[in-house]
Amino acid sequence: MTATPLVVLENVNKHFGELHVLQDINLSVHRGEVVVLIGPSGSGKSTLCRTINRLETIDSGTISIDGQPLPAEGRGLARLRSDVGMVFQSFNLFAHKTVLQNVTLGPTKVRKTPKDAADKRALELLDRVGIANQAHKYPAQLSGGQQQRVAIARALAMDPKVIMFDEPTSALDPEMVQEVLDVMVNLAKDGMTMVVVTHEMGFARRAANRVVFMANGQIVEENTPDEFFGSPRTDRAKDFLSKIL
Ligand code: ADP
Ligand code: MG
Repeated sequence: MTATPLVVLENVNKHFGELHVLQDINLSVHRGEVVVLIGPSGSGKSTLCRTINRLETIDSGTISIDGQPLPAEGRGLARLRSDVGMVFQSFNLFAHKTVLQNVTLGPTKVRKTPKDAADKRALELLDRVGIANQAHKYPAQLSGGQQQRVAIARALAMDPKVIMFDEPTSALDPEMVQEVLDVMVNLAKDGMTMVVVTHEMGFARRAANRVVFMANGQIVEENTPDEFFGSPRTDRAKDFLSKIL
């Protein structure tokens, strides 16, 4: 880890109408760090993830990626946005494109990578997530766990500086959760900077450097996984943990 954090949120506020969904959020994520973001449904976790690559605007505060403030729009935004990979609960693969085409689309269209080079890299990434042999299939021919691994390869293909995972295993059948978590653990071991919203506490214990607990739009507690699960400091965290563990 270096001194300058890769992602910095300072006094970030956001409203949805009357709802103050993000309340003075201050959060730094260092290079190579894995931050697990947990909290009750509706606490603002997805919104927080989405603000980090401007899928949602903010009302006040600043967000910087690698020392660059996230601009509201324009070319600078497109570039910084491509530094932030996203993996969603619902895969969001293009149904009418093959696995390989799903992974090469971003690099060829946005980065103007030549097709041959993009294909080669995509096959390496598909191999890394354990599905190179599915490259010419369509998403519907794959299991949910395989589709989510394609989505991870697609995010990696853009060489992001950080990847946000928003409940990446919540839509999966139970027997497929582990294969996706294993890929994520390996990414973490390889030094990828990750912010992961998840209810998978086993993953948090295995891979997280830090747990950030959100409730009602606020960061209530930040701690190492051992401290957070072993001796949570706040009643809200204790209450939350008593319901999920
Ligand atoms: P979490 O991911 O922690 O479950 P979300 O960030 O999805 O929470 O949502 C936080 C709150 O903001 C919820 O009350 C939700 O209903 C509300 N919300 C989320 N997106 C929108 C939106 N686009 N418009 C209005 N309210 C929203
Ligand atoms: Mg959510």
